[in-house]
Amino acid sequence: MEPGALLVARLWTADEIASLCYGHYRNQLPKQGLPDPSREWTLMAAFIQVETTALEESVTKKVVAMGTGTKCVGQSKVRKTGDILQDSHAEITAKRSFQRYLLHQLSLATSGSQESVFSTATDAGKWMIKPEFSFVFFTSHTPCGDASIIPMISHEDQLFPTLVSDVCVDPSAADISASGISAYKRKANEEEASGTSKRLKQDDETSLNGARLSDDGRTANGKALEARDVYRTGAKCVPGEPQDSHKPGADYHCLGALRVKPGRGDRSWSMSCSDKMARWNILGCQGALLMHCLQRPVYLAGVVVGKCPYSQEAMDRALNTRCQKVASLPDGFRTHRVDIVQSSLLFHHGRDALKEKGDAGKLVPCGSAVSWSAVPHQALDVTANGYRQGTTKKAIGSPQSRSRICKAELFGSFRQIVQRLPSSQLPDSLRDQELKTYWDYKKAAATYQEAWNQLLQQAFTSWIRTPRDYLQFT
Ligand SMILES: [Zn+2]
Repeated sequence: MEPGALLVARLWTADEIASLCYGHYRNQLPKQGLPDPSREWTLMAAFIQVETTALEESVTKKVVAMGTGTKCVGQSKVRKTGDILQDSHAEITAKRSFQRYLLHQLSLATSGSQESVFSTATDAGKWMIKPEFSFVFFTSHTPCGDASIIPMISHEDQLFPTLVSDVCVDPSAADISASGISAYKRKANEEEASGTSKRLKQDDETSLNGARLSDDGRTANGKALEARDVYRTGAKCVPGEPQDSHKPGADYHCLGALRVKPGRGDRSWSMSCSDKMARWNILGCQGALLMHCLQRPVYLAGVVVGKCPYSQEAMDRALNTRCQKVASLPDGFRTHRVDIVQSSLLFHHGRDALKEKGDAGKLVPCGSAVSWSAVPHQALDVTANGYRQGTTKKAIGSPQSRSRICKAELFGSFRQIVQRLPSSQLPDSLRDQELKTYWDYKKAAATYQEAWNQLLQQAFTSWIRTPRDYLQFT
């Protein structure tokens, strides 16, 4: 079977999901926190809830969580109180907004509401997503890291190479871009001299005029085109893994490696979005805390990517293939292979759309991040540098400075829900236990931790984790 091939018919199309998200972005998010399109771009990601009636006669789709953002804070800025948002890439702000949505849904369910997406499961104190609901993830751009290492195959790309394809642009990534372009030109000149360029050009023209290219860079007759270069990621390989060669051309990066995002100023503890999304395929999107109350993890029914440089092979490698061999997972967990599709619709506040319009040299990534969740109170949250927008240095640490999706806030919401429950309704993992800190609660989610350990041992051995003393807050 082809990678990404479908086992069941989709209840949605990629363009339908993308346009639903773009509409939500235009109509539901206020200007505050969004880019000034004359000089800034951003990334956007969202979770779409798909609901079917019993016989699939009708399907309704709605956005339940959305995030924007392009930045990540460095290690030196992280506090031990869990009140800073470390990773504000859109995929991650969307995922944390989705967890906020799920917490609200759990609070509805535990209060006896039938309106919740959860219903009681067979195990005591556990809940499950009702069978009529599923979730699709949208991202306006390929996730940073492994999925953004994309072979350049078309004629146009070779004439105007934009070498860093993802959001991980930091001062050193800018160097990569500059040196990459000069290396590219040097290589092209060498090839011109040796005559190989002429052959490649002919190949390109054949492919453009004679046959339409498919997603993976093959012509219609199945002939593979050799990529001369790759789009690059600014995320760096983690120590202990194979490292990038930085050789000019297509071998610049090593493939399949775990990567860490550059922070502002110093290194971050945040793994690339490709790595984090691969983890969702084993551990689900709900996180450790919610797993206490769920019988099974929440896996995605699909991932849709907006129009941008894209490779089906790179997406499948980064998100699916790297963890496919992980075995011995605890009950309820599995190696989920997510269905990945690209939309033909461009995000109007993304880098590619704005580059087409104006002066590409002037464009910078937008510094603020927006979170939106389908919850009744204070659905919106705008942050910059990991804190609520407008926070002064002096106000850091105050309740007003916190994002509603930071660790401390999500932990607080979770504790409120479980503390309200009589002990007969608590799951075993939360009963008769002396749990105090965030770390205690996460560690006590036994099946989640067991699955995570299997994933770490079998596939992601060099994963960088936030040190434990940064997770001991109450
Ligand atoms: Zn990212």
